[in-house]
Amino acid sequence: CKDGTVHLTRPIERVGAHAKGFNAHSIGICYEGSLDCRGRPADIRTPAQRATLRQLVGQLQEKFPGCRVCGHRGLSPDLNRNGEIEPEEWIKSCPCFEVAKEFKELEEFAVKTENTEEHRVTQHIKEQKGGK
Ligand SMILES: [Zn+2]
Repeated sequence: CKDGTVHLTRPIERVGAHAKGFNAHSIGICYEGSLDCRGRPADIRTPAQRATLRQLVGQLQEKFPGCRVCGHRGLSPDLNRNGEIEPEEWIKSCPCFEVAKEFKELEEFAVKTENTEEHRVTQHIKEQKGGK
């Protein structure tokens, strides 16, 4: 919400309904408001929203290291196949800010600290044994 409070709409292990084709293997985060006073898409996040979003993404990166953080528009098809999803290719313009850029160092930090090859292998072995 605009005041920075977080509301959990469903348990994290349940499949969401936020991004067609990606629901089964992603976690959706929504924030209130992404249109300016004329109804055009704009980054109008409050400082509280920015802070909460940052904290939430950081926590999720710690829990799921190596995950890609992206916005709806970042899931649009790369129509001209140049390796970049450009504004004219966006099927949606939300979340109205550069998600990958904004959370880049959180992603890198989580990968550096948690997602070493050794860690992943250990996790895999533990999972196969039925442990945590
Ligand atoms: Zn969206």
